[in-house]
Formats: sequence, structure tokens, C-alpha cells
Amino acid sequence: MSEDISQGEKNLSNLEEKLERTRKELAILYDISNAMRTTLELNHILYIILTGVTAHTGLGFNRAVLFLVNKKERVLEGKMLIGPESGEEAEKIWRYIERENADMEDLISVYKNSENTPTPLSEQIKRLKIPLHSNESSLLAATYHKGNSLHIRRDSIGQYAHDPLLQVFKTNELVVMPLKAKDKVNGIIIADNFYTQKPITENDLKIFTMLANQAGLAIENSQLYEMIVHKSNTDSLTALWNHGFFQDTLLLEIEKAKESNTPVSLLVVDIDNFKKFNDTWGHQSGDVILARLAKLLKDCAREMDFVCRYGGEEFSIILTQTGKEQAFVIAERMREKVAQYKFEIASSAQPLNLTVSIGIASYPEHAQTKEDLISKADKAMYTAKFIGKNKTIMVDTQGD
Ligand code: GH3
Ligand code: MG
Ligand code: MG
Repeated sequence: MSEDISQGEKNLSNLEEKLERTRKELAILYDISNAMRTTLELNHILYIILTGVTAHTGLGFNRAVLFLVNKKERVLEGKMLIGPESGEEAEKIWRYIERENADMEDLISVYKNSENTPTPLSEQIKRLKIPLHSNESSLLAATYHKGNSLHIRRDSIGQYAHDPLLQVFKTNELVVMPLKAKDKVNGIIIADNFYTQKPITENDLKIFTMLANQAGLAIENSQLYEMIVHKSNTDSLTALWNHGFFQDTLLLEIEKAKESNTPVSLLVVDIDNFKKFNDTWGHQSGDVILARLAKLLKDCAREMDFVCRYGGEEFSIILTQTGKEQAFVIAERMREKVAQYKFEIASSAQPLNLTVSIGIASYPEHAQTKEDLISKADKAMYTAKFIGKNKTIMVDTQGD
């Protein structure tokens, strides 16, 4: 009789334990999905997912790495790593979390501070591009094709010594978890317990799979959102920034320049005699030229500049943190590059030449407001036309 009671008590406490675990797991999923709903920015979403995988109040893995599928290039690209890079760092972080009693929300809110601190391992991971076709030799490609998670234990990790990820991410036990949206794998997370050496359990895998299902959808939503935002700011013929984006960005850049006491310059570029070109070769050829010319301008600009299609056959280029002298050098480089280029179109057997006229104005030297800066650069461009075209003119050289 008393044996029955103690057996009953044991069963009850087992059930209670199970219930408590399930309650915790639900709370983790709830916290993560709530956090994911607060943003559509892809990097922020990735950070929240990996925080969920590694936080002690989350899944509690020591480290997690996230790869995204690049469909165009047919590769998996390393995007983010969360987790300490040495045992010492691990100790420090965990002591900090304990001392501060940091929960998942606190850890997620660290995002803005942490995104600019690259570490040697995270940089190596971000350089990794794993081809999707190599499913024989790579754990990640195999997971992509099969669509199921892989748990590689200590006794079999040796077989993967040549895996491109494991060459960089040294470990002895890990989980490779596919992320899916509508049954298509769009990313993969790799997680391990490198520092604590805590074995990965069936239960860890179960809740990790539930998290992965939500994560895959959140990633797809965010990618769709970013694509739409990008499309709405882009000109479809030239793939440059469009007029609306140009206006918003110029205003922002002038504000930034004001705050940081730096200059910003504006180029207005107009094709010479383009109406005649269209009349001779047709508008379709004209469109081909616009797209080609856009690429030439972009190639001459720097990463930090904004090359935009102002409208028609006019382009506007925002040169950030750039004074008038440097702006002149860049404008001349563009003008010469266009003048030397041989444009090919289907309707002409011979390659054709074209030229552009460029006007320059700089903040704060020539103008204080966006409207004035555009108007000054525009005027300078018309002066360039007036004195013979294929010229670069700075606004103050005309005694304006
Ligand atoms: P100028 O040297 O004075 O600039 O002479 P222009 O003929 O280039 O004159 P303007 O700058 O006024 O050019 C306007 C012409 O540009 C009208 C139109 O034929 C052409 N154009 C504008 N937008 C497009 C476009 O999207 N596609 C094509 N093919 N042509 C365009
Ligand atoms: Mg024009
Ligand atoms: Mg023109």
C-alpha cells in the first residue's frame, strides 16, 4: 500500500516536472515571437533569434551561428554568430548575466551596441559561402537538401573534419537546424555547448525545432519587407535610387553634415543632346543608354555616395562628407569616363559616343538648405551647357 503511494507521488512529481518544463518552453517561444514582432529589420530579427538560442532563459546553448540562403548565388552565407569566443569571455558573460539578473529582453536590447563589434570568429563566419550543390562534403548543404535537423555527437564528429564550417567553427558536438518558410529552407542555425560541454538532449532539439519554425517565417517576412522597401526607393530602368529617395536622403545628409560639421556635395548630371539621340536611334536605344550610363556613374562613385535618377535623363549624386574640391575631382572622373565610353546599341553597327554636363554645389559653402543646394547645382549644370557642354562647373565659379 505505502509502495503504491510513493509510486504515485513519484509519478506526480514527474508530471509536475514535465509540466514545469513545458511551461518554460512555451514562455521561451512566447518571448522570442514577441520580440520578433517588434521589428522588420533583418539583422535585428537574426539577432533576436540567436539570442533566443543562446540566452540562459532561452534555449541556453553556448554558441549559435546563423546562415542564410542566397538563392541567386546558390550558396549559404554566414550572417551572424552569438556566443563567447573564449572560455574566459564565456565566464565573464555568464557572471555578468547572473549579477545583473539579465533576462532575454535585456539581452535583446543590447543589440544596438553589439552590432558594430566584429570579432575574429564572427568575421571568419561572415566570409563563409557554402555552395548548395556540395551536399556530399558539407553538413550545411546536406541539411539544406534534406530539410531535417542533424545532431552530430562526439563519436561521429571526426567524420566531418573537412567540413568547411567546422574548419572555422571548432566543436565536438553540435546541432544543425534548418529554418523554413512554406516548407522551403531559407536559413540554417548551428548551435553547440563548446564551453560547458553539456550534452545536447532530445528535449533541446524539440524546442529548438519549434523555435526554428517561427524563425524561418520571421526571416522571410523581413526579407520580403526589405525587398519592397528597396523596390519602392529604386528606379526600375536604371536600378539607381529614385527621385523620392533622393529628396529624403539629401535632407537627411544635410542634417547629418550640420551635426558633424562636415560638408556634403551635390552633382547634377544631364546628358548632352539626348533628344537628338532619341530622334536618331529611337527611345528604346535611349533607354539602353540610360541604364548603361547609370552603371558608369555608379562605378565612379564611392560606396558612401548616393547615385540617383533625378528624372528623365538627369541624375543627381549625393557625395557624403565631401567638400567642393574633392567633388570636382569625382565629377571630372565621371564626365571623362562617359566621354571615353563606347556605347553599343542594337540599331547602330558602330559604337556611339555621348557626353554629359555636370553642375556642382556644396553644403555649407554654397547653400544652407536642400532646395537651395539643388537649385545651385542645377544652375551650374545649365552654365556647363551654355559654355559648350561636356563640362563640369562649380556653382561659385560663375559669380553666383
Ligand atoms: P541638352 O544637351 O541641352 O541637355 O539637350 P537634350 O536634348 O538632352 O535636352 P534635355 O536635357 O531637355 O533632354 C530631354 C530629352 O531626354 C527628352 C527625351 O527625349 C529624353 N528622355 C528623357 N527621359 C527619357 C527616358 O526615360 N528614356 C529615353 N529614351 N529618353 C528620355
Ligand atoms: Mg535634361
Ligand atoms: Mg540633356
